[in-house]
Amino acid sequence: MSSRKAERAALARKRRKERAFRDDAGRVHLVLQRDPANGHERVALKAPLFAEQWQNELAASAATTVLGVLRREPTLEGVLELTRSALASTERLIAALLARAPAGALACKSGCDHCCHQVVGVTAAEALTIHAHLEATRSADELERLKTRVAELHERARGLSSAERFSPAHPCAFLEAGSCSIYEVRPLSCRGMNSLDAGECASKLREPEGRAEFLAKGHGGRCFVEPIQAFRAVSAGLQLGLSELYHLDARPLDLLAVMRLLLEGDAELGDAWAAGQQPFEAALREQR
Ligand code: SF4
Repeated sequence: MSSRKAERAALARKRRKERAFRDDAGRVHLVLQRDPANGHERVALKAPLFAEQWQNELAASAATTVLGVLRREPTLEGVLELTRSALASTERLIAALLARAPAGALACKSGCDHCCHQVVGVTAAEALTIHAHLEATRSADELERLKTRVAELHERARGLSSAERFSPAHPCAFLEAGSCSIYEVRPLSCRGMNSLDAGECASKLREPEGRAEFLAKGHGGRCFVEPIQAFRAVSAGLQLGLSELYHLDARPLDLLAVMRLLLEGDAELGDAWAAGQQPFEAALREQR
């Protein structure tokens, strides 16, 4: 370990000892328990987070996975392993949930990209996993082109509200020819997206009347709710596990803004985050 990394790790350990395991509102959501059956440590919720019991169990299971993978000390490599595993297991779960749908009911298909024109929320763990994937799969020229595209889209979106960014003028930076170019590592929120009516999706994004009605209502169209409930439960478990068990900053970020920081920034941003620092503060998702 370099001396800079060792200093960061020591500082992170000191900060973890000093800080209580509480969120900004002073609440603690997780509790550590010992499984009487096998003696292993597991994580439980102090109180339900969701109305559905299966979602609470899923959130607790995701938090237990955080503990199982990161163990005593979080590292960037450990967080990447954890996130890849969570993305893959969520994909399998959502596929199983969607498989219960009546044949032909799901409107989503390859090339349909209406839902890829809006602010996408991610955690730092997801953004770092996307960045690691890009570094492993893209050439230097491709990364440079992506960096330029991300910067242009970010400048175009600067200062706009979420409603204003729900527009054909604001495609996701990873949307290429109607498809997701980071499909294997796309965020959890994208995995839950689904629709029962592609015409409705097109109307609310592209037609003035449909768009105005959608924005006035403030919620989406017809869809299967279980995949959305599933991704929210997994995401909550991961966020709480990372923040309460390891004091890592797991607040929701704007995908576009955090990818700009990662593509333009210092190669050690990920290590700094894993050491308990908050290098992605500028990408915090604005709630408006
Ligand atoms: S990451 Fe992929 S699936 Fe998600 S909004 Fe962007 S292009 Fe669409």
